[in-house]
Amino acid sequence: MPTNTLPLRLKTDSSAGSDPRRSKYNTDKLIKRLRRQVGQAIMDFGMIEDGDRIMVCLSGGKDSFAMLDLLLNLQRSAPVSFQLVAVNLDQKQPGFPAHVLPGYLEKLGIEWHVIEKDTYSVVQRLIPEGKTTCSLCSRLRRGTLYEFADKQGMTKIALGHHLDDIVETFFLNLFHGSTLKAMPPKLRSDNGKHIVIRPLAYCREKDLARLAAIREYPIIPCNLCGSQPNLQRKQVKRMLADWEREQPGRTLNTFRALANIAPSQLCDRKLFDFASLKPDAPSMDA
Ligand code: SF4
Repeated sequence: MPTNTLPLRLKTDSSAGSDPRRSKYNTDKLIKRLRRQVGQAIMDFGMIEDGDRIMVCLSGGKDSFAMLDLLLNLQRSAPVSFQLVAVNLDQKQPGFPAHVLPGYLEKLGIEWHVIEKDTYSVVQRLIPEGKTTCSLCSRLRRGTLYEFADKQGMTKIALGHHLDDIVETFFLNLFHGSTLKAMPPKLRSDNGKHIVIRPLAYCREKDLARLAAIREYPIIPCNLCGSQPNLQRKQVKRMLADWEREQPGRTLNTFRALANIAPSQLCDRKLFDFASLKPDAPSMDA
């Protein structure tokens, strides 16, 4: 019987020094803020409906652990009833600690699955040495997870991308793809069969990192495959960090802008009919 118990362990927030009351206050505030942001994103984008069976994709990174934790927390007080199923894909990377996630999930008492599929070898075979492996790897991972979601009757697939990921993706597409697009909080998959949700869309990465430290998630490093991190993403991350230092708030403002678009002030003729633009009423001076 699932227990949905929350923290397996709860360390206090070290940012408050040695004052335990201050530390508890900071931790409570952080958790409240993250809960509120997840709840708000779920409401704003209609992410969860009564009866949903949600596949929570758990990579072993801090963000996906935090997503599962926060969704479990919200599930207890949600006005609708939904199921959470944690799913990890073991891609057979050398050194992947296969026992870590089962050990963690077993203690949570929820339904969980580990899919074993050696996408690592496929990527190694198909991508020449020195080339970036991430895009093929992600495609294979996505395909496997979607197929599993189908078989298991999942109605939603939850991914752990947060606000900073969304803004980074926006700039990557802007600088390298000549397109204004980011990562939506909710989308229909390319094959039209799945609804993907991003409940952390309003959460900041630094808050999730603090939560991960407080909860002591058993994080699995993401560089087991030996791939170099995406250079362009690294550059965008650095650019945003520099901007934040010079002018705090730029990342948040960029994110807000993504929800406040004025098609008539851009140049996309598919979004706005510039050709038929006429004055509202004839000028009185005429
Ligand atoms: S870092 Fe490695 S595991 Fe992660 S997407 Fe890239 S190739 Fe795949």
